[in-house]
Amino acid sequence: MEKRRSAREINIGGITIGGKNPVAIQSMCTTKTHNIRETLAQIKKLKKEGCEIIRVTVPFPHDAEALPEIVKKADMPVVADIHYDYRMAIASIKNGAHKIRINPGNIGKKEWVEEIIKVAKKYKTPIRIGVNAGSLEKELWAKYRRPSPEALVESALNWIQFFEERNFHDMVIALKSSRVPEMIQAYELIAKKCDYPLHLGVTEAGTMLPGSVKSAIGIGTLLYRGIGDTIRVSLAEDPVEEIKVCKEILKSLELYQKERTIIACPTCGRVEVDLLKLAHEVEKRTAKIHLPIRIAVMGCVVNGPGESREADYGIAGGKGAGAIYRKGKMVKTAPEKDLLKELLAVIQADYPKIKL
Ligand code: SF4
Repeated sequence: MEKRRSAREINIGGITIGGKNPVAIQSMCTTKTHNIRETLAQIKKLKKEGCEIIRVTVPFPHDAEALPEIVKKADMPVVADIHYDYRMAIASIKNGAHKIRINPGNIGKKEWVEEIIKVAKKYKTPIRIGVNAGSLEKELWAKYRRPSPEALVESALNWIQFFEERNFHDMVIALKSSRVPEMIQAYELIAKKCDYPLHLGVTEAGTMLPGSVKSAIGIGTLLYRGIGDTIRVSLAEDPVEEIKVCKEILKSLELYQKERTIIACPTCGRVEVDLLKLAHEVEKRTAKIHLPIRIAVMGCVVNGPGESREADYGIAGGKGAGAIYRKGKMVKTAPEKDLLKELLAVIQADYPKIKL
């Protein structure tokens, strides 16, 4: 891993991003924000899965009016997502949004962006400047002829300057593209040009499988290079799935401390236990372990003992049976039907407060 870029720290409703703070996981509600009951129910589900910052859309006054109750009951920072109408940005700030997200280029007039800045300063509300390839300013289209990484960066830098000239520095920057190489290049460029925290995402990434892979490559490459302070995986799926993918990206780079990691072999012709079933059962039964431990579930002696010893806990399958490992040592053997039970018993003995 490359050294982490040191971004300016920004507080969003009690969560500090930037600096050396952990990379925060975000998602966005798919509900109508004015439907407070459904919005809060979705936020609760996302929180349970591990979401740390939630964004809700605020297109109309009745959505802004719903914010005080949502902010009060959400149990995580709430970001208001604004397009076109600066009055919705101002209403969201006044109604307690912990941050607003705007694309200043689609607000219409610079005076309206100035109005937003004035109110955000007064309420000390951070603003995410989100520049998207799909909504680049006309002048930059004319100059670059397409939303290239350079065009996205120039758009963001122009707006950063505009905000800074008005003495506003409580900013987070996002430059999203649905093209992964361009998204990576854009963030690499902007990372060198400013010290604001960066929110990473591949926009409109797609359905579960392609969306997850694209996001993992785009977000993962940047995180590996030390770039990125918050992440969102944008999937055409239930947003709960977005959180699961975010966690796996962070876990892959050993940047997530709140959940166990499962190492499982893909199986092959050597396997002599029902390894796939066992791996899924171990995954399900250990889901309550909110600690950065590694659990290996391996099919045979080829890689089983090695991976199991390397992990905190492990199973190495054999012929209709297997061995259980704990902290680098084999602690018992068991027939196949008892492997799950025996592994859980060994983990449970170390963590009696977690009911597996
Ligand atoms: Fe095959 Fe054994 Fe490797 Fe699993 S650990 S993939 S069963 S050789």
